[in-house]
Amino acid sequence: MSFTFDIASTAGAARAGVFSTPHGPVETPAFMPVGTLATVKALDPEDLVRMGASMILSNAYHLHLRPGDDIVREMGGLHRFMQWDRPILTDSGGFQVFSLERLRIIGEEGVEFQSHIDGSRRFFTPEIVMQIERNLGADVIMQFDHVIPGQSDQASARDASERSIRWLQRCLAEVQRLETTQPLEDTTQLPRGSPREMVAGDNPGNHQALFPIVQGGIHAHLRREAAESIRSMHDWSGFGVGGLSVGEEKDATYEMLEVVDDALPKTHPRYLMGVGFPDDLIEGIRRGMDLFDCVAPTRMGRNGAVFTRDGRLNIKRTEFRADPKPLDPECDCAACTRFSRAYLRHLFVSDEILGLRLLSLHNVHFLLSLARAARQSIEHGNLEQWSRDWLARYRATSPLAV
Ligand SMILES: [Zn+2]
Repeated sequence: MSFTFDIASTAGAARAGVFSTPHGPVETPAFMPVGTLATVKALDPEDLVRMGASMILSNAYHLHLRPGDDIVREMGGLHRFMQWDRPILTDSGGFQVFSLERLRIIGEEGVEFQSHIDGSRRFFTPEIVMQIERNLGADVIMQFDHVIPGQSDQASARDASERSIRWLQRCLAEVQRLETTQPLEDTTQLPRGSPREMVAGDNPGNHQALFPIVQGGIHAHLRREAAESIRSMHDWSGFGVGGLSVGEEKDATYEMLEVVDDALPKTHPRYLMGVGFPDDLIEGIRRGMDLFDCVAPTRMGRNGAVFTRDGRLNIKRTEFRADPKPLDPECDCAACTRFSRAYLRHLFVSDEILGLRLLSLHNVHFLLSLARAARQSIEHGNLEQWSRDWLARYRATSPLAV
């Protein structure tokens, strides 16, 4: 088996596990830094290794448009292209295609849309998206699904969820066809400049785990039905949970997580898509979710906002002009162990590239270590107490909050 999930300990619905992939293990719960365009913005892969990132996320839609998934394949696949020899997950682009403002036409066959880069007309079907994800060669590939706004009514949520399940069947058939007809390059060992080999057979890197996505908006029975249909279709290596934290009330999010936790097998990893703010990460972990991703840490970093254990702060504020403290006194990242808020603020307001980089680095490190701390508390059997204390401090009104 190329993909396994071993649960070391549990605390209520929460689990501390190890998800094994052809490119190595992922200790869960885990935060996956987002490298949409095959780069976690402003960070070098070596930074990510130093911070202990195990799995990163990239995006099929964006890489298809630029540089082109055929180019990535020609360059030996995504691992080799971006020099990341640990696990990668690619999102299918469903979210991007369905949130495009330009004209798009949705039909049973697929979606026609215009590229956000040059306006060219494109057509995505479940089969085409699987071919793109095959070319990229990530370890985990997400199905192409029909994404709808968070507060959609029941009829639209049902329509999109049922279409996503029909598309899942087509994704699965295409992935099975591609595994035999288009072997992946073996990048499980990644020495620079080694001869390139295309081998199917026993090459563990030839297998990609297709994750289905449980949709259903904020309608519990739709979520249950979706989970049931998906489970009966195939023996999956893991499950995606989509369409949450997209504008619905927090209580609805938590309720849906509890429904999904109950409806999915406990034995497999669950990836809560697009969710990764510190408090959402903890609430998700408490409800049995294992993998998370979010663009916020790097996006916020580029806007001067950072996470701290006492809430968020914005480095642009004048009160930090002569502040000798690090961003977060308890953080052991490469920014906090060396630089003062005063220096980081100076870099930021002077538009120095290093400022963006250090803030992004801190934010990504913050979420990676938060997921690690949660894992530890599951292992030590004190997740409830730890998460209550952590959230109370983080949510307390702070003069530094933004
Ligand atoms: Zn830090």
